[in-house]
Amino acid sequence: MNVEVTGGAGFIGSNIVDALVGQGHCTSVVDNLTTGRAGNVCPGVPLYQCDITDAGIMCETIQRTTPEIIFHLAAQIDVRKSVADPAFDASTNVLGMINVAQAAVANHARRLIFSSTGGALYGEPAGLPADETTPILPLSPYGVAKYCAEQYLSYCSRLHGLEAVVLRYANVFGPRQDPLGEAGVVAIFTRRILAGERPVIYGDGRQTRDFVFVGDVVQANLLAMNGPQGTYNIGTRIETSINDLVHAFERITGRPVEPEYRPARAGEVQHIALDAGRAQRELGWKPAVSLEDGLAQTIEWYKRQC
Ligand code: NAD
Repeated sequence: MNVEVTGGAGFIGSNIVDALVGQGHCTSVVDNLTTGRAGNVCPGVPLYQCDITDAGIMCETIQRTTPEIIFHLAAQIDVRKSVADPAFDASTNVLGMINVAQAAVANHARRLIFSSTGGALYGEPAGLPADETTPILPLSPYGVAKYCAEQYLSYCSRLHGLEAVVLRYANVFGPRQDPLGEAGVVAIFTRRILAGERPVIYGDGRQTRDFVFVGDVVQANLLAMNGPQGTYNIGTRIETSINDLVHAFERITGRPVEPEYRPARAGEVQHIALDAGRAQRELGWKPAVSLEDGLAQTIEWYKRQC
């Protein structure tokens, strides 16, 4: 099958590309390489270095590659940057989605699978884990834009018949996550801990996240190719505090880790975990890799890069 991955030079996208190529799909990548790297893209896979905010170029590219399925991952992913510059965030995350969806419709793509967020969409829910019926109350422009993008996709589905699958991820971690970025606490901690530096915790470390391994997220995307249309949380239900994450690093590396605490940052939620029961029932997806196993694989991968 012809498939296109926007953001396919990034962390999650490049892992999806590897799996698609492994399954024999004719895969191409659209990425402007702002945070992604050409070296992440599986050899032999064409990389179209273009910007999803350019409607004309997006349409031309999709016309050339004629994908049946588009995995849309290209995005501005930094919550703090979205608070500092909501207009830039929206230009990539909302206008970019409009361009990708319009290009998909114009060139008769069958399905668009959108990488959305569960971690930044539900705000501080009254009860955890949050399922897909939890009220949408984002605390950051990033969450607002991702929800807005979901709505544009849903509109394209109603009006033009484009099949739509929305995957709302928890905190994804694993090999290839950018350790020098501002997002991705596991990658940032791994780099610092392996370099013998202290990881920085913003807040008291009791804030919780739901960490889901990238291999499990890839599996959700593969299942979404042929499963029913819909919106699915992709998470583990498990809340892990940032302090507990540090303890997990200590257990795996066998070394004590002394974090440095700084003031909490605006726009970040305190507690989140996602109920992925719908994904299990309808897509047949459930997480297979535990936090400790995923961390061990991630640490090994970063050691090999050094
Ligand atoms: P990433 O930064 O590694 O990947 C994003 C990719 O998009 C990069 O390769 C970047 O170069 C590309 N990109 C950015 N702006 C672009 C533009 N204007 N035009 C073309 N390409 C552009 O991040 P990731 O963690 O792999 O995230 C992938 C997707 O998953 C994003 O949509 C993100 O919002 C979503 N997501 C990630 C997480 C997580 O924990 N990592 C959680 C929820 C949702």
